[in-house]
Amino acid sequence: MKKHIVIVGGGFAGINLVKSLVNDNRFQITLVDKNNYHFFPPLIYQVATSFIQASNISYPFRRLFSNYENVHFHMGKLVKVDSETDSIETDTGRIRYDYLVLALGTETNFFGMENVQKCALPMKSIEEALYLRNYMLLTLEEAARNKDAKEAEKLQNIVIAGGGPTGVELAGMMAEMGRYIAQKEYPEIKLRFSNIYLIDALPSLLSPMSKLAQEAAYNKLEKLGVKIILNVAVKDYVDNKVILADGKTIETETLIWTSGVIGREVPGIPEESVGKGRRLLVDAYNKVQGTKNIYALGDIALQLTEEKYPKGHPQLAQVAIQHAKNFAKNLKRIEDGKVLIPFKYNDKGSMAIISKYNAVVDLPKFSFKGFFAWLTWLFIHIIPLVGFQNKVRLALDWLRLFITNNPSIRLILQPKRNNI
Ligand SMILES: Cc1cc2nc3c(=O)[nH]c(=O)nc-3n(C[C@H](O)[C@H](O)[C@H](O)COP(=O)(O)OP(=O)(O)OC[C@H]3O[C@@H](n4cnc5c(N)ncnc54)[C@H](O)[C@@H]3O)c2cc1C
Repeated sequence: MKKHIVIVGGGFAGINLVKSLVNDNRFQITLVDKNNYHFFPPLIYQVATSFIQASNISYPFRRLFSNYENVHFHMGKLVKVDSETDSIETDTGRIRYDYLVLALGTETNFFGMENVQKCALPMKSIEEALYLRNYMLLTLEEAARNKDAKEAEKLQNIVIAGGGPTGVELAGMMAEMGRYIAQKEYPEIKLRFSNIYLIDALPSLLSPMSKLAQEAAYNKLEKLGVKIILNVAVKDYVDNKVILADGKTIETETLIWTSGVIGREVPGIPEESVGKGRRLLVDAYNKVQGTKNIYALGDIALQLTEEKYPKGHPQLAQVAIQHAKNFAKNLKRIEDGKVLIPFKYNDKGSMAIISKYNAVVDLPKFSFKGFFAWLTWLFIHIIPLVGFQNKVRLALDWLRLFITNNPSIRLILQPKRNNI
């Protein structure tokens, strides 16, 4: 009898777990995801800014695992875990498991601010990135039509809340778009993306990175004209006004929210197994506390067992990938009756792109910035893309785009059934 492993979530953790188990015939695997594709979150800001196509960084699960008989894909959204009957309920059917692996990742955290949640633009999925792309292109068209200079200026104010890698990368790319594209293609608009605000409640940008990275990001973005506001949190968003904790306001129709994440809710999991940031508390082998055969990997897992990471591991792709690889080994060891290996995170560093030809890289022993860091960033972000075609296409697209400064996919595509 094969053991049935149900993996919910085909992100970095989910697909790396499938890849590590496909060649072991003792396992039958069902991958459940609400989308029919895997995607690469670190590059969705380039989709949102019309720089690359969504298809450059996404890949269908069915194609990815079409050569493996022991892998089945089930498109559906997790509704509930029922540990009494060892089954999960999805919006498209019920599935029984021997082992359940929760790898659902996180969702945007609006910190309880209802108006922000209702009106700000999050950027965590392909759908949200495409929505943001359409929204910004439509706003630009509106600004180009508007004869009232003050109104046109307001329409061009862009506020990005969150000075982490995503906020920094987005601000840099938008500032450059203003220079290279808006000048040429939107001649009616005078200001051309000159009012990009980047706001963070902490005292520096890229707060988990080195001082060198933080200063490089600050200086370069400032040179590009981005208005950086630190040490102040966004408190509310009312009548197209962003309200800051110090009482100041910024008028804008575009508030982009890259400020934080929270674990996805998993109904059916005991309340006491849910820790800070709504992450699932797991032991050193990724088993969810208080359960017998339910495991959690990646962003949604809160593992407090490693001395070096008393508050849990950072929510990064490398943690998710390494969780998956270690857990695959342990599943095989469970079947073989061997002693399990506790998880140990191997920090390979972090990086962020600031603008064209300019990035920052923190390696475990040293940090560097500038052109070489930019090349490193490009290389590191192509390698983990799923699908050889995607890697080649993206490399060629980047080459052309960085040379010509002219991404040509600024299409406002809004699917409708009946377009009369
Ligand atoms: C904009 C952005 C930029 C980032 N940049 C970097 C970076 O540069 N470097 C880095 O290391 N990390 C980066 N990260 C973080 C990194 O993407 C995560 O750490 C990583 O994706 C975590 O992997 P995961 O498998 O745990 O979850 P995810 O990759 O988030 O995958 C979760 C999967 O679960 C599916 N899912 C969600 N809910 C349900 C449900 N109810 N039912 C079924 N399926 C569901 C989703 O469709 C998705 O496929 C970035 C994240 C974002 C959002």
